[in-house]
Amino acid sequence: MKQKVLSCIMALVLVLGLFPGTALAEEPDGDTPTINVPRNGAVLNGTEYTTLDDAMEAASDGDTIYLGEGTYSGNDKNPTVVGKGAGKTLTFVGASPDKTTWNIQGPEEPYVVDKNCDYSFKESKSITFKNMTVVGSVYKDGSKQAKYLQGLAYIQNITLENCVFNGLAAYWGYSTTTFNNVTFNAPGTAESGIDAMEYSLWTWTGSEYTFNNCTFNSAGKVLNVYNEGQHGSTTINFKNCTVNSSNSDSLSVMNINDSLAQGFTVNFTGTNTVTGIKADGIAATDGSHASVAKNGAKKTTAEATCSKLFEFNMKYGNGNTGKTTVTIDGKTVWQDGKMVNHNIAANDGSKLYTDGYIDNAFTTNTTTQGKRTITTKTCKYCGWSEESSTYNWDVSRSKTATELNKNNESTVTLSLPSAEEKLSSDIVFVLDKSTSTDLKGDALTMLSKIKEQVNETGATVKVGVVVFNKTATVSAQLTDISTDEGYNAVKAGIETTIASGSNTHAGMLAGKQLLDNDTSVDAARKYLILVSDGVTYQFCKENDFSKAYTRNFNKELGGTLPPAH
Ligand SMILES: [Zn+2]
Repeated sequence: MKQKVLSCIMALVLVLGLFPGTALAEEPDGDTPTINVPRNGAVLNGTEYTTLDDAMEAASDGDTIYLGEGTYSGNDKNPTVVGKGAGKTLTFVGASPDKTTWNIQGPEEPYVVDKNCDYSFKESKSITFKNMTVVGSVYKDGSKQAKYLQGLAYIQNITLENCVFNGLAAYWGYSTTTFNNVTFNAPGTAESGIDAMEYSLWTWTGSEYTFNNCTFNSAGKVLNVYNEGQHGSTTINFKNCTVNSSNSDSLSVMNINDSLAQGFTVNFTGTNTVTGIKADGIAATDGSHASVAKNGAKKTTAEATCSKLFEFNMKYGNGNTGKTTVTIDGKTVWQDGKMVNHNIAANDGSKLYTDGYIDNAFTTNTTTQGKRTITTKTCKYCGWSEESSTYNWDVSRSKTATELNKNNESTVTLSLPSAEEKLSSDIVFVLDKSTSTDLKGDALTMLSKIKEQVNETGATVKVGVVVFNKTATVSAQLTDISTDEGYNAVKAGIETTIASGSNTHAGMLAGKQLLDNDTSVDAARKYLILVSDGVTYQFCKENDFSKAYTRNFNKELGGTLPPAH
């Protein structure tokens, strides 16, 4: 059955192929029946029109007009004057990008203020183009050019979907512009039909640009993120796009100039792949040096973004005046005119920003000052450098801790002295009674590791345990764990269960006391390990809750003894 349907479709295609004046216009989602449209004609609500003007004249707000093989415009004859579709919300569906072309028109002479735009859809709320090639712009003599301020003017919302866009346009939606699955061939590429290298578009109009699954083919410039604040601040969303450049000294994907803008928010998400463009850098590096200031000055490290995705335009003065925020996968990487950090990672630890970090492009230099080794890493793209130093201690350190991570956690490593040193150590675990099973398990794991090291090194290690609820209880005195008997006594101490209250301070005091009581071990080799959820009691006196007191239950320290259990 499936085969039969397929062969019917094949037959239909063959029959249609016999008539060269027809083309198929099809909705990309396939839920609309295939529509047969005459060459250079149009179909609206099932009716064929020999010209697009006739179809647009008959159309109502919200209509879809299907186009055939051929070339179309909003107003072929005179782009100075509004076309038949002006003021209407319309969707145009072409046969395919290689069959249907829409020419945005350029005027004979630039208009005084609006320059080289096309007025054919003046005051339309929304105009959508699907399945065609859109060219911006074509002039009266048929030439395709990339002039100043081209495009469709005075439309609130413009959408291009499954289209090819050749050339340059600066005018887009006065509110929003959306590009879904659009291939941009910028001026300078063979596909654009224009020799001079230029941007594919300017963000001249509107408050929002969205690029989803787009491909940009460039000869050195891609997107000019520039406007003069006419439509408020502008957000640019850039998701899952591919950018290719044939020019080894290309500008970054977005060349931003916020000097006259109200503000730009640029959001990069998904997987954006950039080929043939260097990260924005400084003159002395392997980065891009395409953007040169008016006076010939090149960027400094502080001005370079170290990114292939965006840079700031210095050609007309400072284009980085602190009004741009750039995020990558929701993390702010550039704000207030500078990078937030040279190294910003995603939640999974992978590098998000900068390209210096993504490509691990660093030169490393090491110098030694006494016991200190200084390592300097310099980014090959932007020249940014970071210094780190290590100390070559010649005394053994028994305790090390990592830097606190973002959860305020540190990994503390206790190492026991080697067999030759024959030093003895005391360790006291102070356990909160409300300690979770997991944490208790961790404490037991730690105990068993200590035991393993004791067995390996022959060091003497005594371990004690204090368990606290509202009071502190010594559940294991300092005990040599080299014997199974001693080890099991300490293990039982950790496993002790008591109820109610959480007086951390009492636990700490009791733990300290236990360590202090052992005068045979050096104070530097005594360790107290607190295992707690961190929620503790505070004590007050005489119903004054504004002042906190601590309390201990240790008789020798002037406290009262804990109640009997
Ligand atoms: Zn860098």
